[in-house]
Amino acid sequence: MTARILVVDDIEANRSLLETRLTAEYFNVITAENGQDALAICAETPVDLVLLDIMMPGIDGFEVCRRLKANAATCHIPVVIVTALDEMADRVRGLEAGADDFLTKPVNEIQLLARVKSLLRLKMLTDELRLRAVTARDIGLDTLFDAAGGDAAARAKILVIDERETAFGRLVKPLRKGFEIAHAADPQAGVFQAAEGDFDCVFIAAKFKEFDALRICSQLRSLDRTRFVPIILVADAEDEELIKRALELGVNDYIVRPVDPNELIARLRTQVRRKRYHDGLRDNVAASIELAVTDGLTGLHNRRYLDTHLDTLVARALNREKHLALLITDIDRFKAVNDTYGHEAGDDVLREFARRLRVNVRGMDLACRYGGEEFVIVMPDTPPHVAAEVAERLRAQIESDGFAIDNGAQTIDVTVSVGVASLIRREGEDAKTLLKRADKALYEAKSTGRNRVVSDAA
Ligand code: GH3
Ligand code: MG
Ligand code: MG
Repeated sequence: MTARILVVDDIEANRSLLETRLTAEYFNVITAENGQDALAICAETPVDLVLLDIMMPGIDGFEVCRRLKANAATCHIPVVIVTALDEMADRVRGLEAGADDFLTKPVNEIQLLARVKSLLRLKMLTDELRLRAVTARDIGLDTLFDAAGGDAAARAKILVIDERETAFGRLVKPLRKGFEIAHAADPQAGVFQAAEGDFDCVFIAAKFKEFDALRICSQLRSLDRTRFVPIILVADAEDEELIKRALELGVNDYIVRPVDPNELIARLRTQVRRKRYHDGLRDNVAASIELAVTDGLTGLHNRRYLDTHLDTLVARALNREKHLALLITDIDRFKAVNDTYGHEAGDDVLREFARRLRVNVRGMDLACRYGGEEFVIVMPDTPPHVAAEVAERLRAQIESDGFAIDNGAQTIDVTVSVGVASLIRREGEDAKTLLKRADKALYEAKSTGRNRVVSDAA
């Protein structure tokens, strides 16, 4: 994961300590020694995350955070408050100023990396959704586009998965007033309940007598219906390893027992706000895009959408010096499928092909029907060798499992050829040149025998 992290601290030794640790993990680190500079940097440069000291001369960290979060151009940048004060009141004040998380000095390295990585993952997804919302607007659907704030006032629904009744009671006592609480004592039933109910946040106890809490987390992250629900782990101070692994699995936050009611509520509010914001964006994007930029047969984005959106993705990747890979797939001898089995059967194959594409790509990848039996997948942040692996996995999967046609009465073999190209940082590079190289690679895959992946060598 590459990202640009801004470290703000008035003390040089603190800045260089964080800079060293983060640089060792290949993050791109920039520093600022006061709040004013930090705000200026965030306004001018794309920043993926801010590590922010509280006690600084001039504008303090709380105020910097407040201003970042109040500005539409910077409010999506995750802010982690780093403070020497181990005061609960400061943490709560920080979270209320809109901070996404906090770390206490001296900064524990495991916590630093786990939290930074988990916030960055979330930011990548948010960025992608925001871009798509912007694209939908560019295409001319602004009547449907409305800054997706969501209804923050609505009563949030919380699920707590904890088998210890008394611990559960203590945890939810401060939440009874403002939130709607559901409880599952059994972990498996809890996962079920989470998938059935539309919860705004799930709390999971770190310990169960006969069950691994991490399994609940990974189940929730892999189920379609719970993939985006915020999860907060409720742990004990000595559970550091478990917390770290939970954050790596995609748990959004954790809280340590004994739980401070104010911190609990502040953290919960942060998660609910974030979820509503994401839900709003997602609904908005889904609704507006569906109208004009979806392919009717496969449900994937159409070429019109790709043409608009690819420019944005390419510009962003070039600007941020990130990888971007693109695959063009073309079903082999597809005309023969139509000729032999009929056009209906051809449509069945296209629908199933699109379904397999969808399950084979990540949430931030973009899969489109480019035309006829050609599809394009755009993969942000993906180095060339990984793109080639994804292409090969897809190719192999298409070849190995037959395609059902004729309402499942028959199964036919289908193969696909794939051209892969990656963005190159050079003069004149743009969406067109990238597509052209992928197309050339595809042509080579066709002319050298089909059912293969060719990566552009340029
Ligand atoms: P190659 O291996 O060289 O790609 O051969 P091909 O037969 O797949 O390529 P060609 O471009 O000659 O044929 C593409 C066919 O795809 C022709 C067209 O009728 C069919 N096709 C395009 N869109 C649709 C569609 O929406 N439904 C169906 N059933 N067929 C389609
Ligand atoms: Mg074709
Ligand atoms: Mg073809």
